[in-house]
Amino acid sequence: MRKFTIIGGGQSGLMVAIGLLKAGHQVRVVQNRTADEIENGRVLSSQCMFSNAVQNERDLGLDFWSESCPPVQGINFIVPNPDGSGTKLIDWASRLEQNAYAVDQRVKMPRWLAEFQRLGGQLVIKDAGLADIDDYARQDDLVIVASGKGEVGQMFTRDAQKSAYDKPMRALALTYVNGMTPRQPHSAVEFNLIPGVGEYFVFPALTTTGPCEIMVFEGIPGGPMDCWADVKTPEAHLAKSLDILKTFLPWEYERSKNCTLTDDNGILAGRFAPTIRHPIGTLPSGRKVLGLGDAVCLNDPITGQGSNNASKAAAIYLRSILAHGDRPFDEAFMQATFDQFWDYAQWVVQWTNMLLMPPPPFILDIMGNAQGLPKLAHRMANGFDDPRDFFPWFADPTAAANYLSELKAA
Ligand SMILES: Cc1cc2nc3c(=O)[nH]c(=O)nc-3n(C[C@H](O)[C@H](O)[C@H](O)COP(=O)(O)OP(=O)(O)OC[C@H]3O[C@@H](n4cnc5c(N)ncnc54)[C@H](O)[C@@H]3O)c2cc1C
Repeated sequence: MRKFTIIGGGQSGLMVAIGLLKAGHQVRVVQNRTADEIENGRVLSSQCMFSNAVQNERDLGLDFWSESCPPVQGINFIVPNPDGSGTKLIDWASRLEQNAYAVDQRVKMPRWLAEFQRLGGQLVIKDAGLADIDDYARQDDLVIVASGKGEVGQMFTRDAQKSAYDKPMRALALTYVNGMTPRQPHSAVEFNLIPGVGEYFVFPALTTTGPCEIMVFEGIPGGPMDCWADVKTPEAHLAKSLDILKTFLPWEYERSKNCTLTDDNGILAGRFAPTIRHPIGTLPSGRKVLGLGDAVCLNDPITGQGSNNASKAAAIYLRSILAHGDRPFDEAFMQATFDQFWDYAQWVVQWTNMLLMPPPPFILDIMGNAQGLPKLAHRMANGFDDPRDFFPWFADPTAAANYLSELKAA
């Protein structure tokens, strides 16, 4: 039995913590908000998770919601006509091979915290600072920092080579609602790309009050969808959300105009810079800790990959720790563990960062062609589950042209 402390009881931290407990180890989770505070607090994410990421949860016995959460069954990609006619220029949809699910973290994390304690884990409610973490590192075999966007993660220095941006690329907002007309003939992430303005996506989910839909707004900074600064009340937030839809996406407005908020905390507005950090943090004593999840690999939500990455990172870290046996968790171990994750995550980061820039003509060509090529639409939809499949053809104009001619010839 070895001793571990995880700072942060969120998506990645609790998966690793529960996996280690189940393997017979002694685990402490230090979490700065209680289960009640999480459940009754503000939403933080839209957390749509695709099949591979959900499977990792299932493998740990942590999928408690596949039966009750309304599934996301496909991806629908839409570009409005730039002529202002309120019609769609591009509109294709494809089924996912396996359903995706968006379980509100206000539902998931309290349940997982209870499960962690039921399995014998030690939960410490505390906002851990560097001195606390140093103390845990002195006592334990390994400390993992999975603090999400929490300030303590700044102990990991930014990796300028891996970070494409140094400022927020989108003004973000979330609106959790009831009463939306369901999409037919199957549910989907409806992903609307409004050139020069931003993106809007919407999908079914499970929140604290039951099934709902989550609206996600991604406004280009300084543009018309970067409009949340003066919105001060939940009512004004919903009104602003509907106003955006009415102006730019009339088909979305039509099915949303009678929506109500799920609760006054079902809203969020903010922004952050996508940042990749060096995975090894040095404490005041010189001891080392390993970063996990958003703390070291923070992506813009435009591709909905953060929780997916967190789950995949957790599975990789867990395997790496368990395979390490009795050996010390030194810097070489920490770097090698992160590198295994980066082998995968670099493609997710590259794809996500590409979508934050105005799409080059060859990408618009791919997006447009998917409307008449179901095979292409299917591949793009299912790429959300494993974005490595977008490469090289989504990143390189020649590879894209070759792939398109192959598809058209078939
Ligand atoms: C608007 C928006 C929409 C999103 N939509 C999606 C989506 O559709 N799909 C998707 O996959 N991802 C999405 N994400 C991203 C996803 O929510 C995160 O990537 C994911 O939750 C990261 O997991 P994590 O374990 O790294 O951190 P978190 O889940 O954030 O957990 C970190 C935990 O650490 C705690 N903590 C922080 N500091 C301390 C401290 N000092 N001491 C103790 N505890 C601490 C926090 O309170 C929190 O509980 C979205 C994010 C945003 C902002």
